Amino acid sequence: MADTAASSDSVFDVLILGGGSGGYAAALRAAELGLTVALVEKDKLGGTCLHRGCIPTKALLHAAEVADSARESEQFGVRATFEAIDMAGVNKYKDGVVARLYKGLQGLVSSRPITYVAGAGRLVGRDTIEVNGTRLTGRHVVLATGSYSKTLPGLEITGRVMTSESALGLREVPGSVVVLGGGVIGVEFASVWRSFGAAVTVVEALPRLVPAEDESCSKALERAFRKRGIAFSTGVRFAGVTQDDSGVHVTLESGQSLDAEIMLVAVGRGPNTTGLGYEEQGLRMDRGFVLTDERLRTNLPGVYAVGDIVPGLQLAHRGFQQGIFVAEDIAGLTPAPIDELGIPRVTYSEPEIASVGLTEAAARDRYGADAVAVYEYNLGGNGKSQILGTQGFVKLVRTLDGPVVGVHMVGSRVGELVSEAQLIYNWEAFPEEVATLIHAHPTQGEALGEAHLALAGKPLHAHA
Ligand SMILES: Cc1cc2nc3c(=O)[nH]c(=O)nc-3n(C[C@H](O)[C@H](O)[C@H](O)COP(=O)(O)OP(=O)(O)OC[C@H]3O[C@@H](n4cnc5c(N)ncnc54)[C@H](O)[C@@H]3O)c2cc1C
Repeated sequence: MADTAASSDSVFDVLILGGGSGGYAAALRAAELGLTVALVEKDKLGGTCLHRGCIPTKALLHAAEVADSARESEQFGVRATFEAIDMAGVNKYKDGVVARLYKGLQGLVSSRPITYVAGAGRLVGRDTIEVNGTRLTGRHVVLATGSYSKTLPGLEITGRVMTSESALGLREVPGSVVVLGGGVIGVEFASVWRSFGAAVTVVEALPRLVPAEDESCSKALERAFRKRGIAFSTGVRFAGVTQDDSGVHVTLESGQSLDAEIMLVAVGRGPNTTGLGYEEQGLRMDRGFVLTDERLRTNLPGVYAVGDIVPGLQLAHRGFQQGIFVAEDIAGLTPAPIDELGIPRVTYSEPEIASVGLTEAAARDRYGADAVAVYEYNLGGNGKSQILGTQGFVKLVRTLDGPVVGVHMVGSRVGELVSEAQLIYNWEAFPEEVATLIHAHPTQGEALGEAHLALAGKPLHAHA
């Protein structure tokens, strides 16, 4: 992307450090609102999500789905044979998707009055970023420097022990993998590799896979993984790993040991905030994260932070929304603060998990154990899910005589249902209100409708 020259006497309305989901969304919206904008990016516009995160992983997951469809085709009366995964072909497809989106994003940013500065920036004053020896000044500064793959103390990322960045570039399907970490990234890779034919074992220190989700979702995913032949050990901590030319030898604190060709370390993402001048400028931080108020303002006047460096869900669409919010706040539009619980969450494994709002346990904590009602609609009664051959459920959590405060879903493709679920949560809909709305038949969306009908006391394709 063409680098727009920025002179040292430029003063921008909005000066943004980092061109990932949070930073570029802030730039696009600020420019749309007539503000002058500079966007500083040291690597590729689009950041983690586009180049090393959401998009390439979901391309792999789609290739995995195609492989499963080929393998399971007979079940649908279609004669096809699954031969092999051609990783060069998979990577070509994945990289092609990323390249097209990258080109589109570059075009979008170029088409707006945004000064794009390629280079590594550093906060050298409350309103100043130094990049390529030039000082840029902003009436407002937005910090959006994103995150990196963490590891555990003493666990070196090298060779066959890798994080998601290297895993995305593998040229062969590994014969066997140990995945350290049963959170979203870990289970998504486990799902891909299993569909590609690898023997996979997930190791999670907490008592269940995807521990941030409602417990029922974890249980359903664990059941599905067992059926798919994905092994996992939960409630057990990693002790150490050694590697040689042929593979890794992983030991756990339980005394168990695991051998595999590679190990993926997926133990979370840390904020990318060191060495960027943040501490020196007096930014209030906690364990590397930049602290903000609900308007994403830091303790330094005029300095905002968005995306993965702000404590909370590390998701691209949260970054987009925060970027838009900050631009509008700077423009004086006084947008309403973002409800973190209203941000939809999807784990794109097979099966998928999609949720928004409070888990059942969190709702009972918040409102009282008896002040909450829960309903679980089994996808067994949903026509489209039967057609697809998937199992799972839609679980609703509501306050008694109040709105829906949590939606939790498991099953193939349920990620697509989260758009409706987040409307229901964010608009504080009552089950009785949703029950009057019509869902097309046969769709998986009907399962959401059925769950609301049941919770409103008038179940249709469900037992009372
Ligand atoms: C494997 C994986 C899968 C994921 N899947 C999903 C998903 O399916 N859905 C989802 O919502 N989220 C997903 N995420 C998370 C998502 O990628 C992040 O939440 C999102 O990218 C955060 O946006 P951000 O703008 O805060 O940071 P980033 O996207 O990390 O962008 C930060 C940018 O700042 C730049 N930068 C850093 N320091 C400097 C500097 N000093 N000077 C100039 N530029 C700098 C970086 O080069 C980078 O481009 C995934 C992440 C990973 C790793």
